[in-house]
Amino acid sequence: MRHLIALLACSLVMASASARDSAPHAAKPADGKTANVKAILEGKANASVKPDIKALAAQADARPAKPEPAKAAAPAAADEEQSEVDLSVRIAERLAQLREQQATRAAAAAKAKKAADAKRRKEAEAAIAAANKPKNGTHWSYEGEYGPANWSNINSSWAKCSTGKRQSPIDLRDGMKVDLEQIAFDYRPTSFSEIDNGHTIQVTVGGGNFLTVGNQAYELQQFHFHRPSEERINGRGTEMVIHFVHRSFEGKLLVLAVLLERGKANPLIQTVWNHLPLEKQQTVSPSIVLDPNEGLPEKREYFTYMGSLTEPPCTEDVLWIVMKQPMQASPAQMALFSRLYPLNARPVQPSNGRMIKESN
Ligand SMILES: [Zn+2]
Repeated sequence: MRHLIALLACSLVMASASARDSAPHAAKPADGKTANVKAILEGKANASVKPDIKALAAQADARPAKPEPAKAAAPAAADEEQSEVDLSVRIAERLAQLREQQATRAAAAAKAKKAADAKRRKEAEAAIAAANKPKNGTHWSYEGEYGPANWSNINSSWAKCSTGKRQSPIDLRDGMKVDLEQIAFDYRPTSFSEIDNGHTIQVTVGGGNFLTVGNQAYELQQFHFHRPSEERINGRGTEMVIHFVHRSFEGKLLVLAVLLERGKANPLIQTVWNHLPLEKQQTVSPSIVLDPNEGLPEKREYFTYMGSLTEPPCTEDVLWIVMKQPMQASPAQMALFSRLYPLNARPVQPSNGRMIKESN
C-alpha cells in the first residue's frame, strides 16, 4: 500500500493540475489519504489538493515498512491485496480519463489558435490591399482632415505633396545676391473670366500675355489670391499675395508672386472684385477687359528658386519668381476677400538646401 500511495502522490500532482478547472467546488478532504484519493477519483481534485497529496506521500514514507505477507496469509491480507489491485485499476482508469480530457482541451486550444491566426492573417492582407488601392479623392482644403498635412493621402497622384523635396512655398532667406536678368513683361489689356473654385478666386485671362526670362517665354494663364501670403521673406509674410501662373510652349510652369500689403486701393483687384460670381463653381465672363500690368509693382527686383504648385497635385519643376517690392490693396479690398477666404495658404515647406537667387 505504501508504494501505491507514493506512486499515486507523484502521478496525481500532474493529474490534479490538469484537472484544476474541472471542479471548482472540490470538497475539502475530511481526513488524510482516503479523502484525497476519493476526491481525485471523483474528478474533484483541484490545486488545493496538491499539498495534501504531498503530506499523504510523506506520511506513507514515514510509516514503518510492513513485513512481506507470508504465502499462506490470512484471508484478511488477501482481501487487502485485492482491494489494492482494484484501487490501482481505478486510479489508472481515472488517470487515463484525465489525460484524455487534457488532450481534448489541448486540441481545442490549438484549433482556436489556428483560427485566430488565420483571421489575423486575413485582416493584415486586407489592410495591405487597402493601402495599395489607388486613392482618387478630389476634395481638399486648408484645414483639418483634408488639410495640407493629409493632401498626399487623399489622392494617389498627390504623393509629391508629402514626398517632394522641392515643394513650395518656402521662406526666402540666405539668397545669393547676384545681377539677375531683367524680366521682360509683355502684358496687355485682355478679356477674362472669373470663378470661385472653392479654394480661391481665380481669374483666367485671354491669350497673348507673355513674360520672358532666361530666354524662355511663358504665357500668362490665370492669376489667383491667397490670404495670408504663402511665401515669406526672412520669416515675414504679408496679408495677401497674387500668384500669376504662366506656361511655356513646352508646358513648363512659372509662377510669379506679388505680395500685397495694406495701403491704397488696387485697380486690378477692384475690377476682379466688381465681377465676383454669386455662386461657387460658376464662371462669369464680363464684357470688359482688365490690364494685368496693374498687378505688377514698379520695381522689378525679385527672388527666384525651383519649387512646386502650392496646392494638390503639388507638381514640382515649377520656376518661381517672387517680386521683392510688395503692392498695395485697400483695407476694404482685403476685408472683402477675407470674408470669402479667411485662410487659404499652404504652410511653408522645407527648402532642403535649395539655391535661392535674388536681385542685388
Ligand atoms: Zn497660388
